[in-house]
Amino acid sequence: MKHPGNFLAFLLCVSSAEAATDVAPGVDLIPGTFVAGTQPDGNTVVFEAPEGLVVFDTGRHREHTQKIIDFANAAKKPIVAIVNSHWHLDHVGGNVMLRKVYPEARVYASGAMDDALRGFLANYRAQLEDAIAKAGDDATKTAPWKAEIALIDAGPSLAPDQRIAESGTRAIAGRTFRVGIESRAVTAGDVWLYDPATRVLASGDLVTLPAPLFDTACPERWREALGRLEKVDFATLIPGHGAPMSRTAFATYRRAFDRLLRCAASKNAKSVCADGWMNDAGSLIPSSDEKLARSLLDYYIDGSLRAKPQATDALCGS
Ligand SMILES: [Zn+2]
Repeated sequence: MKHPGNFLAFLLCVSSAEAATDVAPGVDLIPGTFVAGTQPDGNTVVFEAPEGLVVFDTGRHREHTQKIIDFANAAKKPIVAIVNSHWHLDHVGGNVMLRKVYPEARVYASGAMDDALRGFLANYRAQLEDAIAKAGDDATKTAPWKAEIALIDAGPSLAPDQRIAESGTRAIAGRTFRVGIESRAVTAGDVWLYDPATRVLASGDLVTLPAPLFDTACPERWREALGRLEKVDFATLIPGHGAPMSRTAFATYRRAFDRLLRCAASKNAKSVCADGWMNDAGSLIPSSDEKLARSLLDYYIDGSLRAKPQATDALCGS
């Protein structure tokens, strides 16, 4: 979530670390967390496969990635494959650490990381350098920013060695998955992973709570992508941030997303659209996340959904 761009905007929420939770036989969730004063980690989903563990998204902070390593150690299985949903640092940052521990692991992702390193992440790095210069020798403040810079500078260690260019069925570590790729939805290339054996769908940030995160998104194409996700025969969807969802919960999310876009395109006041999301998403948003949800909406309605058309066109590739 509050992704690379405006990294100073949301330093809000704290939630305690949780151990991995069993989602289905051979499928575990290591939930992402917000850590006070730092950026978040996305959810990690671990699939047991005949040849070892398949890890979907690797988090950003060492603490999160260490949980993945601890899980693998407890399972007595190596991590043999990593699948990244998209290039945001809260989903790929842990690649660097996991690759050190498991140098043989294959990393699957879209090719969008290459452009991101030259564009978005390069700009973000410059923002971080500025912030560090302004903060002087306040190490408490600057340490997390320096950690971000180190991740960005690890460039090739973040990037895939197996590029996913098209949707289809493929065996990863001996387990059969359906791999989907969406173009210019949350980012230029978003990967989702569906496990037919358990009917678990790992969606990455195509679904996030407590609100969608539009930093690098093409909202309209994202809306269309949600329609395609609904056609997948999943029983449980694990979002990029937030708790697992049933099909009914996803339908609620999708409707709320549609209505948010429609409201943002209307002349309604921003507060009306924010209230609409809070009402429409309703019970999907834990009460402890309501304040965060409102902050996100406050930022994204103006900053993304009502951004200048050139900005949206650039993200939509039109
Ligand atoms: Zn994220």
